Amino acid sequence: MSGTAPRLKAAAHAAVERRAEEIAALSDELMRRPEPGYAEHATAERFAAWLTEAGLQPRTGLARTGVKAVLPGGGAGPRVALVGELDALTLPEHPLADPATGAAHACGHHAQLAAVAGAAIGLGEVMAELDGSAALIAAPAEELGDVDGIMDAAGAPAGGSDRVEFPVGKAELLRLGAFDDVDMALLAHTGRGGGPRFSVGDTLNGSCVVRARFTGRSAHAGSSPWLGVNALKAATVAAHAVDAQRETFPDGDDVRLNYRITGDAGALGSVPASAVLHTMVRARTVEGLERAAEALTRAARAGALALGARVETDTLLAYLPLTSAPGLDDVVARNAHPLMGAEATARGRHLGACTDMGDLAHVMPVSHPYSGGAEGDHHSTGYRIVDHRAAAVEPALYLAGAVVDLLADGAREARRVLHASPPPLSLPQYLALRRGMNRHEIQEEA
Ligand SMILES: [Zn+2]
Ligand SMILES: [Zn+2]
Repeated sequence: MSGTAPRLKAAAHAAVERRAEEIAALSDELMRRPEPGYAEHATAERFAAWLTEAGLQPRTGLARTGVKAVLPGGGAGPRVALVGELDALTLPEHPLADPATGAAHACGHHAQLAAVAGAAIGLGEVMAELDGSAALIAAPAEELGDVDGIMDAAGAPAGGSDRVEFPVGKAELLRLGAFDDVDMALLAHTGRGGGPRFSVGDTLNGSCVVRARFTGRSAHAGSSPWLGVNALKAATVAAHAVDAQRETFPDGDDVRLNYRITGDAGALGSVPASAVLHTMVRARTVEGLERAAEALTRAARAGALALGARVETDTLLAYLPLTSAPGLDDVVARNAHPLMGAEATARGRHLGACTDMGDLAHVMPVSHPYSGGAEGDHHSTGYRIVDHRAAAVEPALYLAGAVVDLLADGAREARRVLHASPPPLSLPQYLALRRGMNRHEIQEEA
């Protein structure tokens, strides 16, 4: 980079390094205070307090718990958002799980918040010399909020302003306009233990949740089971029909399926009259997702038909697939490599997992790198951050550096990214896509 960027970056990095121990301590503190999606009140409060102490004026309560502050720059150029996720995953068996809620930081989101908080300190030193501004955003509920509650409320009157329409926080923030003044977004996620030290430019699957609620008829399971309609067996047949679909998904769709069946609370001596099959289906494209969700709906019908049960099937879009902006990935990689070496980098993998950064990517250029510092596999009881410098301080350094590169010298680099990676959809088109993928269907008792 020519011009002022190297000097500004050095100043931003020095400011982050002066607070490095506090940034690492913040990551550790938040790790030990996990909260579930859309209920991350203490986490949001702590993040907002850090920003306030840094001289910013954060807005809170966005999509229930989201936080946003703006670091104004010296010019009116593009606005770059640094995003961190507030929520933990529900995994009660995790050693650091909150016994009351079962929430545990088995995806490392606490480190993202500390990284954004750290980057804010670095950027605070140099923003006046940049030709654009930064937004610091903490987003709720990346790990899917109350899917059943959202499905049950669909179609009901809008009610109070606190109602959540979408199961992931960034979709909800988009709907509420929190990203209206943002031009591009960066989020640094921690990788899995044993994975690459740094990766960028990975594509991720999108996903839907398909819920099939079977209703049968109870009867005495010993003396007269033929008088009943066994809803649990209907769900089991449907689950087998789901499994039978696996080889029908085309190569390249990268479909992944997993499900669970929950039964009714009736007596063991009674034919179960209700059962629910929840399936999460992931695919690389919206079209692949639609094909797979339709196959699951057929499977639900088949289970109900076989047993003569009733089934009510709801499909809810969870995440859109992620494709990042190559020019933005380049800027992030260029800033990460001096910290951890280019040879430690993976680039352009396809991952079966999902993120609601995929939603943001439909309306603006994004980058979603992965950093080190973790042991164990994401979403497992063994996952935890063991090196908060790698998980939080290094991302603070490369995120701040990336913002400097984007917005220095007339924001040339940011404008180049915006030109090269125009958003695929407008916000209204995005909202229409999201709502248009949801389905509701009833098949009555045969
Ligand atoms: Zn996760
Ligand atoms: Zn995550």
